[in-house]
Amino acid sequence: MDYFPLYTRLTNTPCLIVGGGDVALRKTRLLLRAGAELTIVAPELTDDLLRLAADHGIQVIKDRFIEAHIEAHQFIIAATSDQAINKEVAAAAKAAMRFCNVVDDRDLSTAIVPAIVDRSPLLIAVSTGGNSPVLATRIRQQIEQLLPPAMADLATFAGHWRAAVQEKIDSHDERRRFWQKLLEGRLTSQLLDGDIDAATQSIEAALESNEPSGGEAWIVGAGPGDPELLTLKAARVLRSAEVIVHDRLVAPAVLEMARKDAEFISVGKKAGTKSISQNEINELLLQLVRDGKRVCRLKGGDPFVFGRGGEEIEALETAGLPWRVIPGITAASGCAAAAGVPLTHRNIARALVMATAHTADENEPDWEMLSRPAQTVVFYMGLSRLPEICSRVIAMGRDIECPAALIENGSTNRQRVFQGTLGTLPQLAADAGASSPALLIIGEVAAMAKSKNTAGYEQSVADLWSTTARTETSDT
Ligand code: SAH
Repeated sequence: MDYFPLYTRLTNTPCLIVGGGDVALRKTRLLLRAGAELTIVAPELTDDLLRLAADHGIQVIKDRFIEAHIEAHQFIIAATSDQAINKEVAAAAKAAMRFCNVVDDRDLSTAIVPAIVDRSPLLIAVSTGGNSPVLATRIRQQIEQLLPPAMADLATFAGHWRAAVQEKIDSHDERRRFWQKLLEGRLTSQLLDGDIDAATQSIEAALESNEPSGGEAWIVGAGPGDPELLTLKAARVLRSAEVIVHDRLVAPAVLEMARKDAEFISVGKKAGTKSISQNEINELLLQLVRDGKRVCRLKGGDPFVFGRGGEEIEALETAGLPWRVIPGITAASGCAAAAGVPLTHRNIARALVMATAHTADENEPDWEMLSRPAQTVVFYMGLSRLPEICSRVIAMGRDIECPAALIENGSTNRQRVFQGTLGTLPQLAADAGASSPALLIIGEVAAMAKSKNTAGYEQSVADLWSTTARTETSDT
């Protein structure tokens, strides 16, 4: 260990910054956040720094640095661009036995300032021992993504309850286990969602019974295929869930983001094969949550768009079990972006209809409504009925020349786009052997469909989908 990590309290502590430029400005802001009592020494200061100093009552010595400036200060930062002065500052600090950081000079520094993730009171410091500040910053950014800003509330909440838990549970080891279980359980998601009341109830109940209970279900949208289209929240839940109950439409690369020891249960369906029924899925979710598991119910696209998310939350709600929903990018948005098709467009598409040609109760779609002009109609699960959909819509009055596009495997590296009209698309798709999952877009905007993936998706995230051929997939 080249450096000893140490968090020091600088509140009202005299600290010295030598330098008057942008680097000094950044360091001044940082030390102000720690509540330090600051003095800045430099013959000249930028306007920004002067303003900051005036706003915060910082003492400014407009002069060249001399050894005597070190005198009353506990921590010194040399932030000038003049190496000779930085050296003088470091030597003077050393003689006075004070810690000194020389910006960008590891050899002269007796203290280094790490990259930080500030979720105060939670504070994470990242250091490469001065070897690569850029690397430290990159790692910091990755950690930042892992820790939502509300993590600060979690730390504050735990601090608030610490004494109460200490009073109730004597043994140090038992207390640790209690906190571990509590923080692994639903308390964390309650706090990250800002639900302090629910979190308070959870901890009170846990203290009462001495046993935190953790079970809950997240109904999570996995997006259309490209794993980068997952929300940060979905990625966080995936990383923490103990059980992942997923559909066939969820790309393997998304599943790979889960915890390594997570249990995976596939409840995917393929049209024409007998698979687990919705009731069985509901029962499975209830059982897992009752067993105290943190369950991520992962669905393609958005759980509330032809995803049966509503039925699952109804079952959980009726059983009195906790659930949360994390939206995802639905196929309509994902495929439209990936094919360069705006779903609404000035003058030519003033409404957007998301429809399915595949209904559970055998009711026919409202063809009259789906055939109106100046709107975009997106059909989910429409591939097997493509010729019928096009002819119905034409029969109800939409122009046979109206543009239509079919997007297969949208947003993935296997995406294919077929573009034609209501009159030509069915034959086009049949000739090309289009397969599921495929999304049908009808409306003037479909004329803008491009055959390359326009969503900025890179080949490097290739092979998102297993190589098995996909057949018509539906959640109904
Ligand atoms: N909840 C999902 C929809 C599930 S229904 C969502 O919000 O996207 C399944 C249908 O969605 C498929 O039959 C297909 O029409 C469409 N779909 C899902 N992902 C797709 C993709 N990557 N490319 C094209 N269509 C897709």
